[in-house]
Amino acid sequence: MERNRMRILVVAGHPADMFDHCGGTLKHHIDNGDAVTCVSITQGLRIHDEVISDVFRHKVGQFTEEEVQKLIAERQKVKYKEAVEACGLFGIKDIRFLDYDDEILTVSPAMITKLAKLMREVQPNVVITHWPYQGDMFSNHHAVTGQLAMAAITAASGVNFEDRNPACRLSQIFFMLCPDDVFPGSALGYTRQAYAQYYVDISDCADLKVKAVNTMKSQKYDLKGYAKKTTEYWNGNFGQKVCLPYAEAFVLNSPEVGTLLPLSDHREWLGTADEGELLLRRASLSATETEIEERTDYKG
Ligand SMILES: [Zn+2]
Repeated sequence: MERNRMRILVVAGHPADMFDHCGGTLKHHIDNGDAVTCVSITQGLRIHDEVISDVFRHKVGQFTEEEVQKLIAERQKVKYKEAVEACGLFGIKDIRFLDYDDEILTVSPAMITKLAKLMREVQPNVVITHWPYQGDMFSNHHAVTGQLAMAAITAASGVNFEDRNPACRLSQIFFMLCPDDVFPGSALGYTRQAYAQYYVDISDCADLKVKAVNTMKSQKYDLKGYAKKTTEYWNGNFGQKVCLPYAEAFVLNSPEVGTLLPLSDHREWLGTADEGELLLRRASLSATETEIEERTDYKG
């Protein structure tokens, strides 16, 4: 049976989330002819930007309101340019920004309506978003983005008389995981950890992951060692769980259905390989061996 083209919409909290959670997976789908659109809900300036988050945190009183607004507009441009460049490494071209300030991020009717409008326009049949229970669920941008996406999915599935685009009903929702989702960093996250049910082998593009992370200079991700360390910790760690060098991990929101039980080639191979083959399969260090230009002179 001919495979239908997938239309994927990624709903991310911050610009870099559009590729650092699932960039390898998106590259595979784009190479496969599927349509991919990414949207970042916030500008990601308050917590991630080198100038805004570091300088304003301590010295905002030294700037006039006009200067603050000017600097925010400038830094937004820098960050968006980096995110577009990083996404481009994976072949992602359709990138949207909803421009919300990340000072206070909470699920609101206005944001749900805006995101639902985008869904009706893009007409995805698959949405990828954050695990809605990350951290303490409430103050965590990723968790709130996941909750917002779920609310928008419900809104977009119904008729809106002010929107000329048709309603949009999904086939599947995937939650893209980061290490915090499976290993919570605070007591409030305990019991809400995600169980990764599906791993995508991204060993063929671990180098792209490192290069993309390193592109986010406005977030200081080019500091010596960071891009490689985070890729090893994140994708290397997920990979080791299923005997792969590098992987991206997901939770399926709805159970898959078939006439037979699912058994992947990799899972089948795991049942037959000897211990040496298993170790060799997971031993690649291509992320740490990737050549990138790193900053070594950061003074803070
Ligand atoms: Zn983020």
